[in-house]
Amino acid sequence: MATSTTLDVGQKRVHILDDGVFVTDAGNLFGGSRKASIKGAMHPVLVEAGDEVVLLDAGFGPELPEMLVGRYELRRDETLLDHLDRAGYAAEDVTHVILSHLDADHVGWALSPPSFPNSTVYVQEAALEEARQMPEKDGRRAAVPAVEKGVEDGWCELLDTDGDVLPGVRVEVRSGHSAGHQIVWIGDGDDLALYPGDLAPAKIWLDPDLISGVDTDPEAARRNRIEVLSAAESRDAPVILYHEPGDCLVKVRSKGEGFEAFPIGSRE
Ligand SMILES: [Zn+2]
Repeated sequence: MATSTTLDVGQKRVHILDDGVFVTDAGNLFGGSRKASIKGAMHPVLVEAGDEVVLLDAGFGPELPEMLVGRYELRRDETLLDHLDRAGYAAEDVTHVILSHLDADHVGWALSPPSFPNSTVYVQEAALEEARQMPEKDGRRAAVPAVEKGVEDGWCELLDTDGDVLPGVRVEVRSGHSAGHQIVWIGDGDDLALYPGDLAPAKIWLDPDLISGVDTDPEAARRNRIEVLSAAESRDAPVILYHEPGDCLVKVRSKGEGFEAFPIGSRE
């Protein structure tokens, strides 16, 4: 049964959406050759900001990218667009899409194909530059032509620093998982929620010592993970976990060297 989680952050209503789950061998995520399968959800986030409708990350898109076939399995009855519809929005209503970085499981509906005809897509320039340097078959590299076309056609905007995309929707560059990886603080003043993207995408990543084989710069990822989660804790901010198949809306509390997650979601 499909459900969606919503929360109110100050004046803003936030919907945690869904683009299915992927199943892959643990070795694809942690490096090495562990023979265990790992399941990850994809939870793009919709923020109602006055007349503007902001989407944070964009799932895998209509189908699993060719290069991942055989290594990843995508399971879903409904896509992001179905969940958007259930939240009361059409693809045409989306005005801003913020991409945390250029991995295929985050850019799908935004880039291949571009599915939000009235939106501007926001990408950090450093993420694009890193993607250009990746090997031919890499997922980030595959996003480059679409981003370059978007910049040329005017629907993609490159950012080169922290800042407000809209009042109450603030991006902050926190690299490590990728160069130019951006997180999003939603809300105003003390009333904030955190979207950490793949800096802390699931409960297992709240342990900063779990160095992921998929982080471009594991040391930067570790440092930023601790700083950002500490900030969320001190602000008592809800944290939205993009890849968490269980409770994807949590609060975090430091415990020893890492963090514990406490679910706060109210399903409706
Ligand atoms: Zn991801």
